[in-house]
Amino acid sequence: MDNSLRELYQEVILDHSRHPRHSGVLANATHKADGYNPLCGDRVTVYLALDEAGKVADIKFQGKGCAISQASASLMTDLLLGRSKEDAEKLMQGFLHLVKGEDAAGLSADDREILDVMSGLSEFPMRVKCATLAWHTFKSAVEGGEAAKTE
Ligand code: ZN
Repeated sequence: MDNSLRELYQEVILDHSRHPRHSGVLANATHKADGYNPLCGDRVTVYLALDEAGKVADIKFQGKGCAISQASASLMTDLLLGRSKEDAEKLMQGFLHLVKGEDAAGLSADDREILDVMSGLSEFPMRVKCATLAWHTFKSAVEGGEAAKTE
């Protein structure tokens, strides 16, 4: 990755961590889960409102932790809003591949462009867990679990 692109990506991540999208408690949540990454101390709670068709009608998160973990949660809520459960699952699998530096062929070009800001993390395995925490927590919320851990 060239340096200017790397800097741009860092700016996007910082912007999301400083001004998180969809942050707060969702009063009408149908699903909720807490996530914890013990390696870094990051915490994320994901609130979801799934409609009858299983679509993400609303989503919010609350969290505390490093910039990567909070920026990833912010990016994730932005992307998942309005998606079906199946679409969300595909997006998650694609992101998990992308962030580990693996082939993320399942992602659409648009989704990939947005999530690409996290692709540089594959060089930092410890930080990968910060970035995936929100997604694991989302999955756990959808599946009706209460707690997600990156370990
Ligand atoms: Zn972290």
